Amino acid sequence: MLTTTMDVRAVEDQHTSGAYAKRPLTIVRGEGCTLYDETGRAYLDMGSGIGVALLGHGHPAVAQAVAEQAQTLITCPEAFYNDRRAELYAALRALLPAEIGRFFLCNSGTEAVEAALKVARLLTGRRGIVSLKRGFHGRTLGALATTWNPPYRQPFAGWVPESAFASPNDLASAEALITDETAAVFVEAVQGEGGVYPLDADYLRGLRRLCTERGALLIADEIQCGLGRTGRWFAFEHAEIVPDMVTLGKGLAGGLPMGAVAWRTELGQIESGVHGSTFGGNPLSCAAAIAALNALRALDAPARSAQLGAWLLGELRARHLPAVREVRGLGLMVGVELRERVTPTLQALQARGLLAVPAGKTTLRLLPPLIVTQEQLAQAVQALEDVSNGR
Ligand SMILES: *Cc1c(COP(=O)(O)O)cnc(C)c1O
Repeated sequence: MLTTTMDVRAVEDQHTSGAYAKRPLTIVRGEGCTLYDETGRAYLDMGSGIGVALLGHGHPAVAQAVAEQAQTLITCPEAFYNDRRAELYAALRALLPAEIGRFFLCNSGTEAVEAALKVARLLTGRRGIVSLKRGFHGRTLGALATTWNPPYRQPFAGWVPESAFASPNDLASAEALITDETAAVFVEAVQGEGGVYPLDADYLRGLRRLCTERGALLIADEIQCGLGRTGRWFAFEHAEIVPDMVTLGKGLAGGLPMGAVAWRTELGQIESGVHGSTFGGNPLSCAAAIAALNALRALDAPARSAQLGAWLLGELRARHLPAVREVRGLGLMVGVELRERVTPTLQALQARGLLAVPAGKTTLRLLPPLIVTQEQLAQAVQALEDVSNGR
């Protein structure tokens, strides 16, 4: 039994891969928008575990669905039909544009992007990929090709497929790269990891038109910006476009690992055997996702994010904090670009009992659970003001 903080951290440090820069905090419990360390100290969670905990922590309906399904049927490969999987298809179908009705279920965001790449190649017979500078689509070798940040990609040069990178909000740049050999164009309607940049609606409409003209599939990566976070169920809806494919992950299953890729019904199916996943579409994750989507609906998550997000953005901008260069965002997906590196600010906020996440070297990212209250957002703004003023 590990009982002291020193033990936990020492053991992790001794054995971790090294892939993660660690923060000196051991989190052992969560409830709503609050996380607790091993001493019982509370932290306001403005990161949702990197955008996952859309419903906060310990949501009773999700917890109950998981417990019940674990006792009923925990695994069931896709070679068999399953009631929970069918219910999840129906639930996703009801949220997505009517044109979109085929799904491949998997276990993480990057797997959804892998599947999207393979499906796009199979359905178009083309090989070309276009993605955007500042874009992030995951870390496995296929998805990594579409992820912009060179330090993520370069150590694996030669191993990953090649993507061309267009400049965001610059249609001429996309026009030069999307050809009749392009299978897929990947876009986050709000770029998350790259610094929280909402893309212009006109630009997204232009991308939609270019893809249609040239026969490339437009793939909206909604892993971070989807499921109500930005004030609509899907961020591409702000531009009133319908993509050809949509990737989902992060909060999809209320905190359990799950990813999904959905595509237009008219594009058809892929052949059996060309893709698959042992855990894909498992009833446990499906049950959690059904409960999470029901709870998000009951919360009217898009309307809530729109309203609270507008308040948060307005409040952050109105303070004109000396350390802040720019405040960007849409709904409850907010980036605060600082005039300096973000790490000391994250540490100072943590010392005040507030947890947020970075997006790049200088941007503080706020991705609160969508159940957050205005009072909690006000606390976060106040903490940021205090830190910015060196208090
Ligand atoms: C987090 C993220 C991914 C990757 O998801 P993982 O579950 O970490 O593999 C892909 N795309 C976007 C937009 C993301 O935010």
